[in-house]
Amino acid sequence: MQTCHKIVPLILLLILQASCTSSSFKNTKSSSGVKNIIFVIGDGMGPGQIGLLLSYARQAPHSVFPNKKTAFDKLAEKGEMGISMTYAHNALVTDSAASATQMASGEFAGSEMIGSNYRGEKTTTILELAKKKGMSVGLVSDTRITHATPAAFAAHQKHRYHENKIARDLVELAPDVMLSGGLRHFIPMEASNKSSKIHFDLKKMTGGKIRIKSKGKDQENLLEIIKSKGHKLVFTKNQLKDVEGKVLGLFSYSALPDGIKESRNKHSSKRTIPTLKELTEKSIDLLSKNEKGFFLMVEAGQIDWAAHYNDTGTMLHEMIRINETLEHILSWAGSRDDTLVVVTADHETGGFGLSYSGDYLPSPKKLNGNVFRGKTFQPQFNFGKLKILDKLYQQKKSYSEIFFEDFDYLAKNRQTPRSLANIINNNTKFPITIKQAKRILATEKNPFYQNGHKYLGDKNVPVMGKMGAFYPYQLDDNRQNLLAMEVATSQHVVWSTGTHTSTPVLVFASGPPKVTKDFQKILHHTELANLLKKTIQ
Ligand code: MG
Ligand code: ZN
Repeated sequence: MQTCHKIVPLILLLILQASCTSSSFKNTKSSSGVKNIIFVIGDGMGPGQIGLLLSYARQAPHSVFPNKKTAFDKLAEKGEMGISMTYAHNALVTDSAASATQMASGEFAGSEMIGSNYRGEKTTTILELAKKKGMSVGLVSDTRITHATPAAFAAHQKHRYHENKIARDLVELAPDVMLSGGLRHFIPMEASNKSSKIHFDLKKMTGGKIRIKSKGKDQENLLEIIKSKGHKLVFTKNQLKDVEGKVLGLFSYSALPDGIKESRNKHSSKRTIPTLKELTEKSIDLLSKNEKGFFLMVEAGQIDWAAHYNDTGTMLHEMIRINETLEHILSWAGSRDDTLVVVTADHETGGFGLSYSGDYLPSPKKLNGNVFRGKTFQPQFNFGKLKILDKLYQQKKSYSEIFFEDFDYLAKNRQTPRSLANIINNNTKFPITIKQAKRILATEKNPFYQNGHKYLGDKNVPVMGKMGAFYPYQLDDNRQNLLAMEVATSQHVVWSTGTHTSTPVLVFASGPPKVTKDFQKILHHTELANLLKKTIQ
């Protein structure tokens, strides 16, 4: 009896253990309940960037969000939230390439690597894994399809700048749907020759709206290679509308338009470039035809660019662009129980925040409440007026367009502080004086000069002061950063850098609760990637 007593629980324990193992095996393998994964990355979208959208939606006197609710509010209500650390291997801060590599593969990467772990070995990305499982796979970005974030899901190169080689990897792997910009990396060198047949053919194919110039170093036509794999090629919004099956869509020479341009042209009948939302919508239409499910990565990539420029008004429009895209994703996935939607950022950019100041102090006000009877309400500092949010929204052109298109296109002798002030004052609600424009255009001997460096190689650069080391994209970005400093007090906005910060980013996960509950903690992006991989393994 004694012995039996001991044996029975032992057998029970063994049975229990066996069933436990098999059920947890089941949970992590085939029965996660996830058929489709939509992974949305806001490049540079730290908590402060989301905060700007939330402040605008809730507090702007003329908020374009009628019920003050954003897609982020809905995601948080429906699903789970966590935060995630983003650092790359052996580094405090990450760039987009290492971060995307880590988010795509679950392995630590070195700075600026694409689809390689820090030891230099090829990673297996979630997109590749999904493809192997017979799922359909897709990449969407409002930058270029060869840019770091989409690249790290489907290419393996030692550096993010090798975009021709990245394009080669993309057509080799041939994800079912690729929609973005970046035609220049897919066409042969010869296409740059305006009298060549290929130049003429490409002009015709693309509807004449895309600049035909190659960044390629050889005569290989990657468009022909992907066509031979059964992909259709599309270059305009109309061509995209009717396409079926597998598709490569390249809608511009380099990046797609910034968020302000996109919204400015949205209702124009002449528009040929689809919006990020339209690209996402079409991708989901095409990919969701597969019985085995799909993996789609959507990047809102220009939040980062606006943040590098410290261009708050444009960044708000970039946040509205990702929000609109998320609204569509939620409307598609919301009613389903088989789709995991994960939204995060690769890192924070710019060290952004609205801030209170000691300038323009508020005047005293009478309050009726009993605590203030006979007294006045007068805070010691200026905590920021709500109408600033409306004024940020009303910006008509991005800083990038103001400098690279309007100002730099002027004849050299007309590139004066006065004309710069005019352009800025015509396109933003935060005017500057000629004296301020002078400071933006002033240059000095480059304190960080590096002969032959892509960004630090110019002898004379804008004057950045003591924090200059954090503004390393000198001739590309620094005038914009200086403009941001000139309007900081009137915008109540502070930026701490022209590069990225280590600030942990938010993670939103919506889908089957037994899957999303794992995202409700402090993660590192490598763990986040492994959670995603686990759902389809
Ligand atoms: Mg990116
Ligand atoms: Zn960046």
